[in-house]
Amino acid sequence: MKNLIKIIFIFIICSSFKIITNKVYVCDSKTSVAYHNSKNCDGLDNCKHEIIYIIKSDAIDKYNKRACKICY
Ligand SMILES: [Zn+2]
Repeated sequence: MKNLIKIIFIFIICSSFKIITNKVYVCDSKTSVAYHNSKNCDGLDNCKHEIIYIIKSDAIDKYNKRACKICY
């Protein structure tokens, strides 16, 4: 029973860590549609606005972006 608690505890730490580090690059423009895995992605080449580094869930929910077809 003690082991099970330990496993659950480790799982919670790992999953929360993943949420924190799961960040993406987004061109801070209304015309951009995707979030990117890499700042050097070809999809960001045309970005004339600021490139912001944000949490993936924010990119989807707040910025309405989808995954880039080039780097994802
Ligand atoms: Zn991309």
